[in-house]
Amino acid sequence: MTSSEFAAAAEVPRLHAVTAEEAEHAIDRDAAADAVRALLVALGRDVESEHLADTPRRVADAYIEMLTPRPFTPTTFPGEGYGELVVVRDIPFDSLCEHHLLPFRGVAHLGYVPGDRIIGLSKLARVVEQYARDLQVQERLTRQIADRLVEVLHPEGVGVVIEAEHLCMSLRGVQVPGTRTITSSLAGVVRDDDRFRREFLERCGVGRTEH
Ligand SMILES: [Zn+2]
Repeated sequence: MTSSEFAAAAEVPRLHAVTAEEAEHAIDRDAAADAVRALLVALGRDVESEHLADTPRRVADAYIEMLTPRPFTPTTFPGEGYGELVVVRDIPFDSLCEHHLLPFRGVAHLGYVPGDRIIGLSKLARVVEQYARDLQVQERLTRQIADRLVEVLHPEGVGVVIEAEHLCMSLRGVQVPGTRTITSSLAGVVRDDDRFRREFLERCGVGRTEH
């Protein structure tokens, strides 16, 4: 594949604003600050107090930052015939639960069996961030990362496992701190070939629960 063909393959429809420019169009900072101020008033708070006076702007900016991934290019290289599993595990991430606007955070384990191309290893962490900095549910986040790796790399197979703690479970509702939700998305030989699937899940540390 030539570099221009690869660039075309990487130009896929995006499911949310993934560049600073796109996010800027989608986000109205002043309206967000006004909404935070209205929320504080509705919660019975004195927004004229010295501590709260500038809180609406700070909260709006915090959310804008948490919802805006840093733009990057998923650089790839010729695979030179390497046809075994590549796994990068324990990639930390932070995201925001779409149902409660509270953080969930944890680690992602990414693996793939290359086709013709391999990806710069640090770029795998950026792919995670690209989708984590959004209002998310863990299931969708897992699938979007896997789909993106397929789109960018056209690999023989891909696997994504995410382990995360959701603050909406530990701070409110059932209030059970320390529980971890584990999701996975497997495709190609990582899903269909026993050897690759077992090897991937074992390297992620979740193979022990298989069988
Ligand atoms: Zn939630």
